[in-house]
Amino acid sequence: MEAPMKNFMDRYGVCGYPIKHSKSPRIHRLFAEQCHQDLIYTAMEVPPEQFSAAVADFFDHGGKGLNCTVPLKELAWQYATEKTPRAELSKAVNTLALRQDGVILGDNTDGAGLIADLTVNHRIALNNARILLLGAGGASRGIIGPLLEQSPQRLAIANRTVAKALQLAKEFGRYGPISGCGFADLAGEHFDVILNATSASLSDALPPLPEGLLSAGGCCYDLAYGNEPTAFVRWGRQQQAALSLDGLGMLVEQAAEAFYLWRGVRPVSHPVIELLNAERHV
Ligand code: NDP
Repeated sequence: MEAPMKNFMDRYGVCGYPIKHSKSPRIHRLFAEQCHQDLIYTAMEVPPEQFSAAVADFFDHGGKGLNCTVPLKELAWQYATEKTPRAELSKAVNTLALRQDGVILGDNTDGAGLIADLTVNHRIALNNARILLLGAGGASRGIIGPLLEQSPQRLAIANRTVAKALQLAKEFGRYGPISGCGFADLAGEHFDVILNATSASLSDALPPLPEGLLSAGGCCYDLAYGNEPTAFVRWGRQQQAALSLDGLGMLVEQAAEAFYLWRGVRPVSHPVIELLNAERHV
């Protein structure tokens, strides 16, 4: 009698350091269920010095796709043999995909995830808006190109280390009206949309922001997220923001974009966002 065929499911995962609290396994399992895709998605704690060996081992043993998060996105950019134009531009990769020809493709889905959450889920207009981006780290790198594609009136980047904000403004200057500064330079300025891409929220802290920075009817968005409102979400509420949101929607949307790259099927994100929102107190 012929032996029954073993069912080897395609393997995916997320690596980061630390990774314990990642919601990505949950999100991708919900997507897989919704789209009737047989796959395994696990979280792997990988210190930066072990990144190359761990990723090579993953793909050598049947891995098909990998998400990379803090602090591994720049290493993932270096690791990828080919990159999508948006990943190339951002110099950060959050999604690796094994192509059929054996090439490891690097993509950055963070920007697409943010734009989808802002403009589709929350109907926040970016076209002609005055946008302020706080922070000049890896997350900012991934979202500046997609933000400029929305044709804002201006995009100002403010960072604690001013030189990094100026560097990003220089690097992306040919794509739109972008400038860099420090937090102290923001006094007297007004913005329609303020995005927090600093990691200050992770320690419940807030960059020093002057009163009156948010124009009437403006919106605040923290890329960080948690089970309670972040310090920046609370600040936005104090400033009477029309909307003051955190980055859970972006997280789900960037995951949907990665899932689509891997599986060729686009999951519907809103039931997953609703489910995760129902489980917390924001
Ligand atoms: P990085 O470590 O690359 O950059 C951190 C940034 O925060 C730097 O600009 C740093 O300034 C600034 N910063 C840190 N602490 C403070 C502070 N106390 N006050 C003012 N500025 C501070 O991190 P990432 O860019 O990768 O991530 C930033 C945030 O975005 C994180 O909270 C992350 O969780 C979130 N994120 C969310 C995503 C989502 O899907 N929702 C996707 C990606 C990121 P300096 O340069 O001076 O050190």
